Amino acid sequence: MSDLLQRSLGVHRVLEPAGVLPQAATRLDPDPRIAPDEVRIAVERLNLDAASFRQLTEAHGGDGDAVRAAVLGIVESQGKMHNPVTGSGGMLVGTVEEVGPDSPLGLCPGDRVATLVSLTLTPLRLTDGLARWDGRSEQVPAQGTAVLFARSIAAVLPDDLPTEVALAVLDVCGAPAATERVVHRAGHRPSVAVLGAAGKSGCLSLAAARDARAGRLVGVVRNEAEAAALRAAGLADQVVVADATDPLALAAAVGRPVDVTVVCVDAPGAEHGALLATADGGTVLFFSMATSFSAAALGAEGMAADVTMLVGNGYTPGHAALALDLYRCTPGVRALIDPRVRA
Ligand code: NAP
Repeated sequence: MSDLLQRSLGVHRVLEPAGVLPQAATRLDPDPRIAPDEVRIAVERLNLDAASFRQLTEAHGGDGDAVRAAVLGIVESQGKMHNPVTGSGGMLVGTVEEVGPDSPLGLCPGDRVATLVSLTLTPLRLTDGLARWDGRSEQVPAQGTAVLFARSIAAVLPDDLPTEVALAVLDVCGAPAATERVVHRAGHRPSVAVLGAAGKSGCLSLAAARDARAGRLVGVVRNEAEAAALRAAGLADQVVVADATDPLALAAAVGRPVDVTVVCVDAPGAEHGALLATADGGTVLFFSMATSFSAAALGAEGMAADVTMLVGNGYTPGHAALALDLYRCTPGVRALIDPRVRA
């Protein structure tokens, strides 16, 4: 591989182990001095991936100070925010401070941007000890620097939306884009079930499926409060309450198996239920970072489930604009996402 390509992927920032790509590294060099093809961002806010935040919160019994200390410890030791348990990160917003002369990203100093590459591969240095964060929210006010490589995509923040909203929507923008693509490819008006349908990626995925002319839309939520909110949002034809980690209960709640199941929960253990809820010949899109590859693959084999399983790629061309437009144009999506952002 040419030196240029390696640099564009950030291999020169890997400290340990040598020779891997930044995402697989256990330690990156977060030095804020940039190379000619890099961009330095002054960090304003991190958005921790939902699965990572849930895992950290549960591991520390909801103690915000301990969660903050854990995040600081990870960033300090790794030079990036890469949850070692979930393997996930999140993304960030900030202001472009310096652009190397060879950067192809088209960014200018002063641009306010959201990174659309994972924090698991973004060199990050925090300088404020996360003093303004109580450890109880996915969004983390922060000060420090981050570095973008030549292949690290970023979106200039829209000026018509609050930063917190844009950050929340952009963090999960891969989900509606992937759902739209799967629905299109599935042919004539496939039925779709979304697990975690009242969450951020879940409601955007429902809206994307509707726009892509899906057939029956089933939203699976875990309690009556979420069911009421989702019904009021009007994004699904059928709203059912089930624990996505209970395969038999989930399949019973969904009823007639669907052509496409989109897994948007932030907790582990939804693989088998998703498979059972999906018709033979159908597709399961695992957007959740809490998904286990072995549980999905071996579960499908054990059930003789003839389904296509897709890993929810966080990147699809045009994904950021699609998700922001869905938020702007769909009152039901705003009604579900806004309270989460405020909380
Ligand atoms: P979110 O807004 O917190 O939504 C998750 C939803 O799942 C919530 O409504 C939650 O209910 C529900 N849920 C949790 N456990 C459940 C269960 N056992 N049964 C039924 N519902 C359950 O999360 P998000 O930000 O949309 O993220 C969703 C997933 O996408 C996470 O796993 C995250 O890691 C992943 N993600 C993937 C990518 C990618 O590139 N593939 C990028 C970003 C995020 P409660 O609110 O009641 O807990």
